[in-house]
Amino acid sequence: MNQFVENKTENAYQFWHALSHPNEWRTQQPLRIVKGDGLYVWDDKGHKMLDGFAGLWCVNVGHNRVEVKDAIKKQMDEISYYQLFAGVSHPRAEELSNKLIQMTAQEDMAKVIYGSGGSDAVETAIKIARQYWVLKDQPQRTRIISLKNAYHGVNLGGTSLNGMPAFKMNYGPLLEQCHQVDSPWSYRNPWNCEDPEQLAQLVLDQLETDILYYGADSVAAFIAEPVQGAGGIIVPPASFWPKLRLLCDKYELLLIADEVITGFGRSGHMFGCRGWGVKPDIMVLAKGLTSGYVPLSATLLNKKIEQAFHDNNDHKGLFMHGYTYGGHPLGCAAALAVLDIVERENLPENAAQMGTYLLNELKKLEAQYSLIGEVRGKGLMIALDLVKDKQSREPIDADSQIAAKLTEQCRAAGAVIRPIGTKLCLAPPLTIDREGCDVLINALKIAFDQVKA
Ligand SMILES: *Cc1c(COP(=O)(O)O)cnc(C)c1O
Repeated sequence: MNQFVENKTENAYQFWHALSHPNEWRTQQPLRIVKGDGLYVWDDKGHKMLDGFAGLWCVNVGHNRVEVKDAIKKQMDEISYYQLFAGVSHPRAEELSNKLIQMTAQEDMAKVIYGSGGSDAVETAIKIARQYWVLKDQPQRTRIISLKNAYHGVNLGGTSLNGMPAFKMNYGPLLEQCHQVDSPWSYRNPWNCEDPEQLAQLVLDQLETDILYYGADSVAAFIAEPVQGAGGIIVPPASFWPKLRLLCDKYELLLIADEVITGFGRSGHMFGCRGWGVKPDIMVLAKGLTSGYVPLSATLLNKKIEQAFHDNNDHKGLFMHGYTYGGHPLGCAAALAVLDIVERENLPENAAQMGTYLLNELKKLEAQYSLIGEVRGKGLMIALDLVKDKQSREPIDADSQIAAKLTEQCRAAGAVIRPIGTKLCLAPPLTIDREGCDVLINALKIAFDQVKA
C-alpha cells in the first residue's frame, strides 16, 4: 500500500514539503541549504552551488545583501510590526506605496493593497475585480477566465484559476464561474500551430468564443502571467498581450497581470506586461518585490478602478478585505532597499542580457542531447523541455526520475536548478554575470553527460 516507504529510518522532521506526497520524503534526505551569499548557496555538508532558481524565483538581488539586511535591522529597531487597517498607518508602507505607484506610472496604477504572499495578492485581485462590477451595477459579472498551464497560487480563488489539473483535483468544489482557455504555447498546442501570430489569434478566437458563449456581461476579468512560470516557462507570441488587451477592451473585461514572477525585472523588462507594451487594470506583485528577504506582496489597481470606488459612497464601496501582515514594516523596509538595488544596478537590463546569453548557449545543447526537446525562455526564466522523442515532442514519463537525476547531478556539479514535471527550470538571481552563467551551463552539460542522453 505504501509505495514510498522502504526499510529505511524515517526523517526526524515534522513538516510536509509542498507539492509532494508526504510519504515520498519520509526516507529521503532533502537538500538542506544552510547559507547563502550573492549568487551562491551552501548545503549542510559545505558544498557550494550557484543558486540557479533564486530560491523559488524570488531572490532577484542575490543572497546576503548588506543594504537589505541593514534596512530590515534598522526597521526592527524602530518598530517590528504595525498594521494598516482603517485609520492606522506606518511610514514604510507609505514610502513603498509611493515608490510602487511611481514605478508603475506608465501603467496608470493608482493604489496599492498589501498582502504577505503571491496567493494573497491573487485573492485580492479577484475580489477587487468582482467588487468593481458591483460598483458598476453589473454584479452578475463574476466569471474569471485564465489560461491552461497558468499558476496563480494555492488559495481557493487562485486554485480555481490555475490551469494545471493536479493543483485542483483534490480540493473541489472550487469557484464555479472560472475556466481556462488554451495557452499560446508554440511548442505544444491543440492545433499543432507553430506560427506565433496565427497561434495568438487562435487562442484569442477561442477566448472570444467563450466570452460570447457565457455572455460578456457575466465575465469580470481575464488573468494571466506575462510569461507563464510554474506551468513550464511559456513565452507567448509578441502579439498576444496587445491583442488580448484589445479583446478585453472590446468586452470591457478587466485585465489582471499576475506579475508575481515577472515583476521587477525577471523577464528582461521592469514588468512583464511592459515588455509586451500593455497596461493591465490590476497588477499582482510578490516574489521579487522583497527578493524573498521578508514575505510581502502587493496588488496594484489602476485609476479606472480607483475611480469606481471614489464615485461610490455606500456599502458597495466598503473594502472588506485585508491581511494582518499585509504591508508588514519589515517587508516594506526590505522592498524599499531591494527596489533601490533593482534600479541602481539596472537589473532588468542585466536579466535581458544574461538571459539572451544563457538561452543562446543552452540552445546549443538541443542538438547535442536527445533528451532536450526545446530550450526556451525570456530574460532569466529558462526551461529545458525533456522529451522521449524530439519528433513527436512527447514528454519523458513523469515518473521516470530522469528530471530528478539530472537535478541531482547538476547539484553535484555545482548548480541548483528546479525540475518542474518534465522540465528543468532556471531562474537565477538577476545579478548573475557571465561567469555565473557559465557555472550553470557547465553543470547542466555535466549532468546530461552523466545521465547519458
Ligand atoms: C508563486 C506564484 C504565486 C503565488 O505566490 P505565493 O507567494 O507562493 O503565494 C502566484 N502567482 C504566480 C505567477 C506565482 O509564480
